[in-house]
Amino acid sequence: MDDRLREQLAAWLEFYRDLGIEDFYRREPGSRPETRNSKSETGQDLQPRAAAATSSAAPESRVPTRRPEPLGGRPSPESRAVNLSPPPLALSLFEAPPPPRREHETLEQVRADLGDCRRCRLAGGRKTIVFGQGNPHAELVFVGEGPGADEDEQGLPFVGRAGQLLNRMIQFVGMKREEVYICNIVKCRPPGNRTPEKDEVDACSPFLFRQIEAIRPRLVCCLGAPAMKTLLGIKEGITRVRGQFFAYGSTKAFVAYHPAYILRNPREEKILREDFETIREFLKARA
Ligand code: URA
Repeated sequence: MDDRLREQLAAWLEFYRDLGIEDFYRREPGSRPETRNSKSETGQDLQPRAAAATSSAAPESRVPTRRPEPLGGRPSPESRAVNLSPPPLALSLFEAPPPPRREHETLEQVRADLGDCRRCRLAGGRKTIVFGQGNPHAELVFVGEGPGADEDEQGLPFVGRAGQLLNRMIQFVGMKREEVYICNIVKCRPPGNRTPEKDEVDACSPFLFRQIEAIRPRLVCCLGAPAMKTLLGIKEGITRVRGQFFAYGSTKAFVAYHPAYILRNPREEKILREDFETIREFLKARA
């Protein structure tokens, strides 16, 4: 075994020991099971989304493969969102390089790594990368879908009509916009404001995960179904899930309607207010 491989193995073993895993079994060459394929028998996607990202994104894998239980219910062990970077499934312990050991990153470092991003096709249609805005130590982070025309123009998230409604909701719970942090799943405007596609989300979401990791908020509020799906892996309709809390790594996530949906369905504003009240109570309770 050459020195490089020995060092890589040592780093891997240390990584796993940190996780409390001490025992390892070597798979015989040629005995690799079929599970290398990223689909399970049920067609569920078993490949951590993060594994599809570029290495420079060094993703955090956060997406559970089953629908997480809301907090307050009885969470099953598999339902908890994990806060670790497991090795990509396609590589065995003996093939994969050790994951980069990242100390606590700052938002600036994440932004610098994003650079003049060309990782997906959205780069071609954007004017500006809309990274995020707000308090780098916010207790509350809002995650929307992607920049619209106004955001693309100004380089800031939620500055159009949906943003004005979000501002009102933030004020409604007694906070200022500057106190929270606001960002999106994708940092570049999808054409015609369409929902970001899977490969676009796969390319960009590692940066979102790292933003949240850098901020370490008490609560992450998913605005709309795409944010809910990206952060929590929940594919159910948002109507059944909104207003509930979920474990999200070492913090919590909450699901609310997207303000743009409320603009199209103003009768639902009452529900949005209720959900923001729940957020306020949560933040007050353990302040
Ligand atoms: N909608 C979003 O999801 N994000 C924005 O930044 C603006 C509108």
